[in-house]
Amino acid sequence: MKNKTKYIFVTGGVISGVGKGIMAASIGAILKAKGLKVSMQKCDPYFNVDAGLLNPREHGECYVTQDGAETDLDLGHYERFLDEEMTGDSIWTSGKLYKTLIDAERSGKFGGKTVQLVPHVTSLIQKTFIDNTEHFDSDVHIVEIGGTVGDIEGLHFIEAIREFSTKVGRENCLYVHVCFVPWLATSQEFKTKPAQNSLRDLREFGIVPDMVVARMDVSETPDAPHIAAKLATFCGVSEDAVVLMPDAKSVYEVPLNAVRGGVLAPLERFIDHGEPDMSKWEKLVAAIESDPKEEVKIGLVAKYVDNTDTYLSVTEALKAAAWKVGVKLKTVWINAEEAKESDFEAVDGIVVPGGFGVRGVEGKIAAATYCLKNNKPYLGLCLGMQCAVIAAARIGGIKKANSEEFGAEEGENVVYIMEGQEGKESTGGTMRLGNYPAKLVKGSKMAEIYGATDVVERHRHRYEVNQAFIKEIEKGGLKISGTSPDGSLVEFIEAPKCDYFVATQGHPEYRSRPYRAHPLFEGLIKAAKK
Ligand code: GLN
Repeated sequence: MKNKTKYIFVTGGVISGVGKGIMAASIGAILKAKGLKVSMQKCDPYFNVDAGLLNPREHGECYVTQDGAETDLDLGHYERFLDEEMTGDSIWTSGKLYKTLIDAERSGKFGGKTVQLVPHVTSLIQKTFIDNTEHFDSDVHIVEIGGTVGDIEGLHFIEAIREFSTKVGRENCLYVHVCFVPWLATSQEFKTKPAQNSLRDLREFGIVPDMVVARMDVSETPDAPHIAAKLATFCGVSEDAVVLMPDAKSVYEVPLNAVRGGVLAPLERFIDHGEPDMSKWEKLVAAIESDPKEEVKIGLVAKYVDNTDTYLSVTEALKAAAWKVGVKLKTVWINAEEAKESDFEAVDGIVVPGGFGVRGVEGKIAAATYCLKNNKPYLGLCLGMQCAVIAAARIGGIKKANSEEFGAEEGENVVYIMEGQEGKESTGGTMRLGNYPAKLVKGSKMAEIYGATDVVERHRHRYEVNQAFIKEIEKGGLKISGTSPDGSLVEFIEAPKCDYFVATQGHPEYRSRPYRAHPLFEGLIKAAKK
């Protein structure tokens, strides 16, 4: 462990979903803008070992790290705000902690000792902090604790972060509590009582925070210094350690709003490292607020149109591309189960994102077919590439072409299960996951888009294109434009006759950054603009 490493622990109070993750990531972005090396970690109370088997409709997108972990969407925020690649150990759920401990106990590692919540679970939690700082060689490590303070299921994390300060020194730990301050419309006032109560809960566990972030139920910066004063008096922090955060129009405004809201004073008391250079964020927010005249409509043909968090990285990647190209983006949600030709016709370009299971797949294949036949810009991501291949094979003469995932028989299975994946369909952490390299065909559109022929994207799939059907797929209008280095797996396809019809077996959306659009998304927006 580096002596100089500092730790920031971010807890939440009153209700969940007030942007604790965004605030934690924004603090990270500010510290990085000061020139510090920052790493981040999430501790989540739930018992699933990872997010891979969680229903994305309930839990939002499953974010895949470069090393192949299936994680919570918060890690996507961390990557977009910090511009650092997380690892599987950037998230620890209670399930993963307990599994690690119980496996160790079963293999006899405890030598007859009783294994207990304190100190064994808490020590393991603390070890994850240290392992992360060593891996990233960080100056500051930020830990976000999922849920709200006082939840029974999160107590081991709260106890671990409290006790940690006695090990590394209280001066090396900064406790940030993000709580919600509701606005009562009838009496026209903010109510601080729930926030006071959550801070009292935190104190009961032995933590007096160094900074309180009050998320306020208003969109403008409120003229409400009395709120800061009140929270400070009741909560044992100085007034300048209370940061008022109104709702932001875009999450990418939060780093700047946090600076405006006074986050620098308590941060500087903790770690003195000069002024942050926020120009990257200022430039981004200027692009977001520029309000261009020209609008581009992108249809997202998807299964979960009622929880758009399911496709968070895709929608963020589209926004980034629109900001870069300088157009106003209108994302049109097309329900894959009900999609009609007129829906495809009404938009300037189409994205078919990743997905699992047969529901809605015919609508996605119809979208690919429409784009192929009508020269409409198309970007296929993972399942979106498989749907494009199915569409082309059907046009190319295999009338019942389909994926084995959706019941295709021999002779029709233009997409089939990868070697070694049989029988693993509902198991966790067993897909082809994380970064894999691919070779792009020289002179292909794809190589031109990437500006390279050796590329890497993150993956999460069990099925692959069946190259026995290449003739029919090509007859249907597609060409393979990239494969795994040994040629065995199809990684990229394109339609030579279309202006912009491209797809990949990977998930480029995970590598898009708000200030650095991914070329495949940028290409789609440019083509749709035409
Ligand atoms: N269900 C498909 C497969 O497993 C596609 C996966 C995805 O889109 N991430 O290969």
